[in-house]
Amino acid sequence: MELKENSTKTHNCETQGEVKTESRKSTPFFIEELSRTFSAKLFDEDACRQWVIGRLHLDGARCPGCNVPLQDKSTLANFWQGKRCCCKSCGRWFTAKTRTFLQGMQMEFRQVFLLAVLLDLMENPPTPELIARFVGVSLNTVSFWHKKIKVVEVVENEQ
Ligand SMILES: [Zn+2]
Repeated sequence: MELKENSTKTHNCETQGEVKTESRKSTPFFIEELSRTFSAKLFDEDACRQWVIGRLHLDGARCPGCNVPLQDKSTLANFWQGKRCCCKSCGRWFTAKTRTFLQGMQMEFRQVFLLAVLLDLMENPPTPELIARFVGVSLNTVSFWHKKIKVVEVVENEQ
């Protein structure tokens, strides 16, 4: 919510040329800049595809027609790359999305990944412990940077 208000404020400044005191200089770590440039493009499509297909097929790669586990190396490779594959047992053509809730989905896998993450964060805002685990740093480091970024914001606001 705060991000949205900030970016709207700047947007107004830029388009309507309002008072300069309302504008904020951008710094590399500035939250406002993050909200403007953050997108699914920042995520690796291959890694996101692996994650999404892995979640869709918790018990491994299987033919959606005859349910036989995929064994053939090239069929397995196609399956995990999200490409079409042919079942050696029943001859059926399918992809990893066939007969899942993502069948017919036109988004990139990184868009699905980001959508899942953001919807989850909307329901369950991250705790400092979770942020530390996601980023791969200690709780103290999270706390340090939280304070540091707040200081940067205050300084920028006073300018
Ligand atoms: Zn089959």
